[in-house]
Amino acid sequence: MGRNSPAMSQVFFLFFAFGWLAQIGIASASEPSPKRVLLLYSERAGIPAIQAIDAGLVEAFAARGNVEVFSEYFDFARFPAKKHAEGQVEHLHDRYGGLKLDKVIVVGFETLKFVIQHREKLFPGVPVTFCGIERHLLSGTTLPPDVNGVVLNYDFRRTIELALKLQPGLKDVVCVFGSSAFDQQVGHDALAALAEYPQLRVRRLDTTPYAEIIEQVRHLPRNTMVFHISMLRDSSGQTRLSPRVAEEISNASSVPVYSVALHHLERGVIGGAMMDYAAHGKEIGNEAVARLDGRPPTPNEAASSPWIINWQALKKWKIPEALVPSDALIKYKPPTLWEEHPGLITGILAVVLIQSILIALLLVNIGNRCRAERALAESEERMGLAAAAAGLGMWVWDVRGNTWMTEQGRALFGFKPEAELDYAAILDRVHPEDRSARELAIKRALDTRGKYEMEYRVQLPDGSMRWVSARGHCVAEGNGKTVKLLGVSMDITHRKQAELEALQQRAELSHLSRVALVGEMATTLAHELNQPLTAIVTNASAAQRFIAHDDMDPDELREMLTDIAADGRRAGDIIRGIKGMVRKVASERRKVDMIDVINDVLRLVRADALANGCAITTHLEKNLPLVLGDPVQLQQVLLNLIVNAFDAMRRVPCEPCRVEIASSLDNESVEVSVRDFGPGLPDEDRVFERFFSTKSDGMGMGLAIARSIIETHGGTLTAENMSDGGARFWLRLPAQVPIHEEATV
Ligand code: ADP
Repeated sequence: MGRNSPAMSQVFFLFFAFGWLAQIGIASASEPSPKRVLLLYSERAGIPAIQAIDAGLVEAFAARGNVEVFSEYFDFARFPAKKHAEGQVEHLHDRYGGLKLDKVIVVGFETLKFVIQHREKLFPGVPVTFCGIERHLLSGTTLPPDVNGVVLNYDFRRTIELALKLQPGLKDVVCVFGSSAFDQQVGHDALAALAEYPQLRVRRLDTTPYAEIIEQVRHLPRNTMVFHISMLRDSSGQTRLSPRVAEEISNASSVPVYSVALHHLERGVIGGAMMDYAAHGKEIGNEAVARLDGRPPTPNEAASSPWIINWQALKKWKIPEALVPSDALIKYKPPTLWEEHPGLITGILAVVLIQSILIALLLVNIGNRCRAERALAESEERMGLAAAAAGLGMWVWDVRGNTWMTEQGRALFGFKPEAELDYAAILDRVHPEDRSARELAIKRALDTRGKYEMEYRVQLPDGSMRWVSARGHCVAEGNGKTVKLLGVSMDITHRKQAELEALQQRAELSHLSRVALVGEMATTLAHELNQPLTAIVTNASAAQRFIAHDDMDPDELREMLTDIAADGRRAGDIIRGIKGMVRKVASERRKVDMIDVINDVLRLVRADALANGCAITTHLEKNLPLVLGDPVQLQQVLLNLIVNAFDAMRRVPCEPCRVEIASSLDNESVEVSVRDFGPGLPDEDRVFERFFSTKSDGMGMGLAIARSIIETHGGTLTAENMSDGGARFWLRLPAQVPIHEEATV
């Protein structure tokens, strides 16, 4: 910088100076000069009504902005205008003479009169707006055209109306007002309004000492109201604050105290048609601002004052809330819990509601469960009774190994009531020969989630045995992983014994029947045997002769011996067949080729056929599958059918006298039929009945036994009459393995 020349420094200075000046210029151009408003109050600043009006005015100016406000309080109540006007003129002239005012706002009638009187000197040409003045005060006054304002409207009438609503039996009105010009003026207005209600007795206390007023209002009878109107000065001339008076009277009074000033409400009065000074001030302020800005002012019709009620006072003087008119505004009502904490209460209610719903659902659920449990218990009891009555043991076994069994069930297996039960313990009681079949049946039921049915033997600890029939079914639980098998078991030992006895008897009967059958054929069989025996004897005698003559041709001898051997075999076959039929052997099942059975029988009946003059023709299908059965019993059936056919044909002359035997495979069954050409069946349905016989020497048991044999082989035996004469019997047996497969085994 040291090297800068003085000329350079001057340039910089000028540059900055210009910049600064330009900024000032811009600022002054953007900010217009403020509007100047002078507020002139008749009363002193401490009066609450004045404070309220002032607050309203200031709020209106603040809202506009850029308004410079000056305030003067003449306090004409204490310093009357008559005496102090001169001094005030001097004072104002001194202060505001040099200022260019844009607006003068006057609050109070005394000041309005003062301003109009000294306007030329003090505020020439400045528009004047007034407020805080009762309408009737202006009635005799002619205002200059640029003086305007909003009048105060104390609504005494509506206040009395409100008192009549809150105190329906109202009879007396005690009017409290002061001695100042303002007090007297509004007091008289109130009395004029009260005069319109002749039913009300009015007592004015404007001349009563203040202390006495307080004493008097303490003992007022019911159906009385205190009307506090205004008291800037009491009867002795002492300055009073009207709100303070309102408070002291309200505190002392035995009856409700009414007022027309809103700011008295918080001091304890019950209410009235309330004048809101702050709103009044704001209204004037807004109007003044409009005029300052050159806008047309809104019409200044004073609105009627609303009914406003002090809720606390309502309670204090025991006025029922129901008497409060619906269009009245209630203040100082303590907020309800709901108004204070709506969010919290909503939350709590929501929680309680949700909880209640949950509890209700839970109760319903518990109720349902109790009902279900009761029903289950009843059902279990009923089932238990039924099961006990039927001799059934109930049990439940789940795959995890738990087993439950009723006492009846435990007794079946010889378990004590307190014994621990599991799958292995029960299996241990099952007869070893039946264990695998039982396990297989259980496995099948579990795999298919189906039924379980089984009859097996139980070996009791004392060594005795009993038969048990078990029936059950699978129940899947939860996601289907847990499976339970539940069912019943029953002692069927007696039934099984009876069945066994019946089986034995049947076998006995069957044997007797066979013996009888063979006996029937004794003659023919003897004849049949005679043939090979005669041939053997003949051949043997011839051979002996050849040997005796010594002319034996070895080839001829060999042939003879071959014949002898063949005849011997034939005779042996016949004897073996008879032996097999009459032998009393236990029934045994094996795979049997029905062709063999047919051929064996044919060998036995051949002689009988010849004796009866009957031909036997066969139509036998080759490679028939095997059947599972007892070959002797199957021979017995076939023999019975063929002998019956011979019998039938013997009894009537028939042509052809033939028995046709056929065998075939029909739909996985091996079918064998015996057809004759006799007189046909006397009764297709009855021929299988026991003891049904049309023969003089018949027992009527043959076909009954034959059918039962076939049925125990899992097959059927049926009979029918043929349309072209004769009867046909056919039996069907389930096919087992094809014969060619069997051959490869
Ligand atoms: P039984 O031969 O001792 O009478 P079955 O039970 O063998 O007893 O036969 C019962 C009856 O059925 C016979 O008495 C007969 O009347 C009738 N019957 C059986 N087979 C034939 C047949 N092929 N033709 C006509 N009737 C028959």
